[in-house]
Amino acid sequence: MKQLFGTFGVRRVANQVLTPEFASKIAAAYGTKVKGTIAIGSDPRTSSEMIKHAVTAGLLSVGCNVVDLGTLPTPAVQYAVRQYYDGGIMVTASHNPPKYNGLKLLDKDGIGTPDDLEEEIEDIYFNDKQERVSWSQIGKAYKRNITDEYINEVINRVDSEKIKEAKLKVVIDCGSGAACDTTPYIVRKLGCEVTTLNCQPDGAFPGRNPEPTEDNLQDLIQVVKAVGADIGIAHDGDADRTICIDENGQFVFGDKSFALVEKSMLEKNNGGKIVTTVATSNAIRDIALENNGEIILTKVGDLVVARKLQEINGLFGGEENGGLIFPDFVYGRDSGLATAMLLEILATSGKPLSELIEELPTYYSEKMKIECADDKKTIVAEGILKETTDYEVDTTDGVKIIVDDGWVIIRPSGTEPIYRCFSEAKTPEEAKRLVEFGMDLIKKYLD
Ligand code: MG
Repeated sequence: MKQLFGTFGVRRVANQVLTPEFASKIAAAYGTKVKGTIAIGSDPRTSSEMIKHAVTAGLLSVGCNVVDLGTLPTPAVQYAVRQYYDGGIMVTASHNPPKYNGLKLLDKDGIGTPDDLEEEIEDIYFNDKQERVSWSQIGKAYKRNITDEYINEVINRVDSEKIKEAKLKVVIDCGSGAACDTTPYIVRKLGCEVTTLNCQPDGAFPGRNPEPTEDNLQDLIQVVKAVGADIGIAHDGDADRTICIDENGQFVFGDKSFALVEKSMLEKNNGGKIVTTVATSNAIRDIALENNGEIILTKVGDLVVARKLQEINGLFGGEENGGLIFPDFVYGRDSGLATAMLLEILATSGKPLSELIEELPTYYSEKMKIECADDKKTIVAEGILKETTDYEVDTTDGVKIIVDDGWVIIRPSGTEPIYRCFSEAKTPEEAKRLVEFGMDLIKKYLD
């Protein structure tokens, strides 16, 4: 059982738990296992520079060389590692509030480190087994700017002429996070008229909270409407997620933009394997079926989706939170290419975003949660399984009960003492009925 690592690296309050000493020790443990040349990057948090120096010292002390890529999106670091390096560490707390920071550790393909490697790193960390090298073997540190290369790689992957012809008006809200030097420049190079909002890197995140929820994107919604933009684009703090706003100022849920890009990828490639999680909308399945695609469902989590895409040579994957994965580019959620693909879809279709969204299959969802002590979680899960023998059930992650044109998934949280229940159906009433059915099942085994 891992003690330090969560679903993607380590995340703690900066300088309280995540001190320079802590970061340096983890980096040295990681470097002991991975060796070679390690790329590092960060988001613009107030603590990022301090932690990056500590990470660098830890890596050098075990003989690794360190390439500092500066402030840039997590996917740009993932791209660089896959192309050139033996591993990578991104200093970021993703969408968490400003006081947090964290370390996303990458393997040589630029995917978040797997569980077995993280367990080995923890073993080295807790037992002080870092292999410090002699004075003459200490690594070397240097800087490299990969940002322009990343931007150009994104642009090369879309029909830039078509996008230029469309003369789109785009508002970009980087939330003062890691995409300030990438997304606005990608979009400008694609010939769009760009209005920026919160595109000065600032670790205090003065404009908005780094998580791109509808509540946090109210300024972007207003600006899209005020300037008459075709689309608004927003990212989270480390710019691996992409959320958009349509030309009417409507927030577009992540599963909708996922479905749009999926459709385009399948059409362009004449089908392919699409990977997503068991908690993603049936719209993704429907589009795959209509467009010669094959759908593969995994446990919840972007790293699981990325790994599956690599394993089966998949075409495209993602999650409902605006994380889109293009495995021939980056084995992780990418913001630059997601943005460019959305612009390409607008340009080639010639239709407004709201109309494209309306053409997608419609499903309604409901979410509920209930407190459940950690030691009761297994009893509840076993009870639910016994109750549902008459149904089609998928146990890839939690218990997913599948009915005609809908489902309900019941999952214990991995980090909190709660159970989550999430349903989807063709009508709002049916979605509500299914979520209540799921909640009743949990309650039955709670006491
Ligand atoms: Mg993120």
